[in-house]
Amino acid sequence: MRYISTRASKTPALERKRFCEILLEGLAPDGGLYLPEAYPQVDDATLTRWRGLSYADLAFEILSLYVDDIPADDLRALCHKTYTAAVFGTAAIVPLKKLEDGLYLEALSNGPTLAFKDMAMQLLGNLFEYELARRGEELNIFGATSGDTGSAAEYAMRGKKGVRVFMTSPDGRMSPFQQAQMFSLLDDNIYNIAITGVFDDCQDLVKAVSGDLEFKRKYKIGTVNSINWARLMAQVVYYFAGYFQATQTNAERVSFTVPSGNFGNVCAGHVARMMGLPISQLVVATNENDVLDEFFRTGVYRVRGTADTHETSSPSMDISKASNFERFVFDLLGRDGERTADLFGTQVPRQGRFDLGADPAFAQAASRYGFASGKSTHQDRLATILETWKNYGVVVDTHTADGLKVAKEHRHPGVPMLVLETALPIKFAATIVEALGREPERPSKFAGIEALPKKVRVMAADVQAIKDLIAHACA
Ligand SMILES: *Cc1c(COP(=O)(O)O)cnc(C)c1O
Repeated sequence: MRYISTRASKTPALERKRFCEILLEGLAPDGGLYLPEAYPQVDDATLTRWRGLSYADLAFEILSLYVDDIPADDLRALCHKTYTAAVFGTAAIVPLKKLEDGLYLEALSNGPTLAFKDMAMQLLGNLFEYELARRGEELNIFGATSGDTGSAAEYAMRGKKGVRVFMTSPDGRMSPFQQAQMFSLLDDNIYNIAITGVFDDCQDLVKAVSGDLEFKRKYKIGTVNSINWARLMAQVVYYFAGYFQATQTNAERVSFTVPSGNFGNVCAGHVARMMGLPISQLVVATNENDVLDEFFRTGVYRVRGTADTHETSSPSMDISKASNFERFVFDLLGRDGERTADLFGTQVPRQGRFDLGADPAFAQAASRYGFASGKSTHQDRLATILETWKNYGVVVDTHTADGLKVAKEHRHPGVPMLVLETALPIKFAATIVEALGREPERPSKFAGIEALPKKVRVMAADVQAIKDLIAHACA
């Protein structure tokens, strides 16, 4: 298997990369995103064979199709080390919860940070440690977070050899639970940095430090953002696992509804569908930040400015642009790298938008690729949380509520609808109290975490001071 960039017109054989070459990289050198040169096809006999596998073995089978530069025994061991009941709470790893006939939640949020990002990030931690040891290299992950990504990265990398994590977050702006989760990590290789400012100030710091190429090379600065192909690949596995739990035979189809922000999660669903998993529809659910819903309704992709990027009660979906969306558009345009480069490399930076509404390819987003979409507001979230509690006795988090609201608009008789549960309600307790008048349940391992000792430095948004901190840690 080789990887190509979404912006390359025709990638010469020599420039096509193998998995471990792109594992530690972000964007391709031409600014595009990496994708496999073709999607491996899974036939009926293979699906049948995979039905009975444990999650770790299923992950190994799927990853083997995309990774040919890690020996099979090592890859299998990495999958078994990652997907354990001890880390993810159950032997099924991603159990289905039936709400009613034909409507399920697929639980992706029972990992260490109670959000679905653990599903991929836990594997990434083990892959990074393995590959860095093999190369005899180190990596310093420098990132910015407003919540879920940063804590998932820290819980995945804590104690890993060869990796340090420097994570900036806006001082005092995360929920008390999120702060407690991150700042209570006392591992030597984890550096929590609370920046006196807003999330944008943290992102600007990351840009400034990564933009200093000499510093970046000298201190081996890397990221773990959602455009990383390995994260997407790991997410493909739970679409198969969900399908096997909801069906008895491969003749059955299911649909998925995915609470979406950067289009990473649902893009993995697209990859699973391209591999031949019998998925009927992939329903993209957004909150008030409806960049993606607008595209799937009209063909217009319009990046939002700061003024119309809303702070909502499903904050992990508050995006102004969808960083993984370019991967799907590349497929939609028949893998035309030149056109993809024009849309994302020229039109978006210059005009902040592009319009495929009149392009015949746009109609195929629904007809050929199964995409549908919808949006949800704060009032919808409150109503859905209350209804789900009353009807099924289940408390859902705010992001999952966005998914459920939109899923109900896209159900078809005879096709089970699986809504991906992307976080547990305890992470967003204030909105649960608003909807239900009571606190959500707290898993016992998180009892009293707000009182644990914390390790965090409060710093000004000063590029030089941050560089000094990294250099000092590496000395
Ligand atoms: C990150 C996140 C999302 C959005 O996922 P994308 O891959 O960015 O589309 C949804 N819900 C929760 C809880 C998240 O943490």
